[in-house]
Amino acid sequence: MGQNATATMTDRDFVRVIWSERQRLLTLARRLAPVGIEPEDLVQDALTQAWQARRGFRGEAHPRTWLQSILMNRLRNLLRVHGREVATADTMALPPDRAWLSVTVTDPQTIISAAEDEQQLRNALHTLAPTDRSAIVLRDAEGWSIQDIAAIFAISTEAAHKRIQRARLRLADALREATGQPASLAPESCTRARELCLGYLDGDLGEGQKAEVEEHLNRCEYCPPLVQALMGLRQALWARHDARLSRLRDSLAVVLAFEFVRRTARRYRRR
Ligand SMILES: [Zn+2]
Repeated sequence: MGQNATATMTDRDFVRVIWSERQRLLTLARRLAPVGIEPEDLVQDALTQAWQARRGFRGEAHPRTWLQSILMNRLRNLLRVHGREVATADTMALPPDRAWLSVTVTDPQTIISAAEDEQQLRNALHTLAPTDRSAIVLRDAEGWSIQDIAAIFAISTEAAHKRIQRARLRLADALREATGQPASLAPESCTRARELCLGYLDGDLGEGQKAEVEEHLNRCEYCPPLVQALMGLRQALWARHDARLSRLRDSLAVVLAFEFVRRTARRYRRR
């Protein structure tokens, strides 16, 4: 699977994929599901849908991305039902307010330590709008490409990129607040470097722009602690997985047992 783009997913493949992906899916659900939507139910729903759709999977995407896309779509449907913000091209448009670009931190290490605590990280993530939260988690925790993120939200890659940048700064700011560091804004002279510095962290700047950022970092007192915090945050976000899976495992067993009984019954009816 994966290498063979024409292969369909067998039941055995399916079970193997969900077995290896279940922890990651649950971590993703816990980071994204707002209050009122149980992460384990969300994973359960996604797995049930994936089970029903498994014959249609042709290995075009990595099975992980396929499962995560199903979960994302399920989450969006639930948010719509609950009347919450739904990530669409409209809500994904960035507001003109650029204050997020001026976020400063004084003590990056405290912010990084807070982010390394999954509960504190989750609390901070949940102060972001659902769309920002999804964008940063899919990118920095799950390693989705900008193109895949743009596709699932039906926005341009440029808009997806900006959304992720904004979410990173807002997450740093939420952790700053949670750790009791005073708020202050970087001066106007930092704006240009900040627009570039997120691309700088992703390693996708050309030589000229890279030099420009480094030159700014050398003489600025506001930006270096922020850059340090952002680097640490990305490290902290990179998926850690929760071992508490008992309920999920049970519910997964129920799906598979149900399917088994259904098929066995069908076989009996044919006799
Ligand atoms: Zn600066």
